[in-house]
Amino acid sequence: MQILNGREASQAIKDQLKLSVAQMAAQGKKVPHLAAILVGNNGASETYVNAKVKACEEIGFKSTLIRAEDTISSLRLLDTIAQLNADYDVDGILVQLPLPQHISDTEVINAVHPDKDVDGFHPINVGKMVLGQPTYVPATPYGIMLLIEHYKIETKGKHAVVVGRSNIVGRPMSILLSGAGAYGNCTVTLCHSHTTNLKELCLEADIIVAALGKPGFIKEDMVKEGAVIIDVGITRVPDSSKKSGFRLSGDVDFEKVAPKCSYITPVPGGVGPMTIAALMKNTFRACAAKHHDR
Ligand code: NDP
Repeated sequence: MQILNGREASQAIKDQLKLSVAQMAAQGKKVPHLAAILVGNNGASETYVNAKVKACEEIGFKSTLIRAEDTISSLRLLDTIAQLNADYDVDGILVQLPLPQHISDTEVINAVHPDKDVDGFHPINVGKMVLGQPTYVPATPYGIMLLIEHYKIETKGKHAVVVGRSNIVGRPMSILLSGAGAYGNCTVTLCHSHTTNLKELCLEADIIVAALGKPGFIKEDMVKEGAVIIDVGITRVPDSSKKSGFRLSGDVDFEKVAPKCSYITPVPGGVGPMTIAALMKNTFRACAAKHHDR
């Protein structure tokens, strides 16, 4: 069994980006600029946004963090996005989800200009991804594909079972793995809460991507010997032994499942860091496209 070390793989990607940014700057070109909008004070969202801003600093990107109260009106938020859309210096815009209930995710996602949609959530970019056209692929599935590529895991002809069909993880993951790319060509089964024979399907899987948000859900008796396990889940589980009062738990029962697999991602340190590296790659591309257009 080999651990798929997301920290190591993401560091390699960030190091490469750092070199490229330094070259951009040395040529007098503008460097990538990511603008992040954080609404409210959700602890997990704060952590994710801070990690994204920190990664920008590490690589040499410019970043702007815009914070808003969770009482912000939808109109005001859309106006902020419009300003960022119009700001030439901003290459990528991300609005950290989840948003407060009174704001429509769909309206906000649709408001980000597709050229600056480095999260890859805009319908135009999702459409391009489905068609296999170059676009911004949502950061978590893109990061998983980069991890698979980093470890050169054979995917061609394999049966992949993706558990969870959200627009940001499961569904795009199923599309990428079933696509014709170098690390695609899987036969994919996409499962959700109405799937009746999940255990049987998982037992047939060469690759399992667990993205349902249920700690320890994938147990050893659901996993075939030698399977590749990608654990996307991150849930804060109360833990009084920790200073923070919680620990992060994945969707896979790691201790019991790990001995059975060929590869497995840990939580934390697996998919999480890859998501950030993928976002950085998307932002770099958004900026490079501007240099190219000039
Ligand atoms: P969502 O809650 O949006 O989606 C969960 C999906 O899991 C749904 O499709 C749901 O089915 C399905 N599901 C729920 N229960 C079951 C079940 N018992 N059997 C089969 N399917 C089930 O979650 P996200 O996709 O946003 O996130 C999933 C997990 O990944 C979370 O823990 C989240 O924190 C984590 N995450 C981690 C990231 C990272 O960078 N590592 C990034 C993004 C998310 P249905 O559609 O029928 O309701």
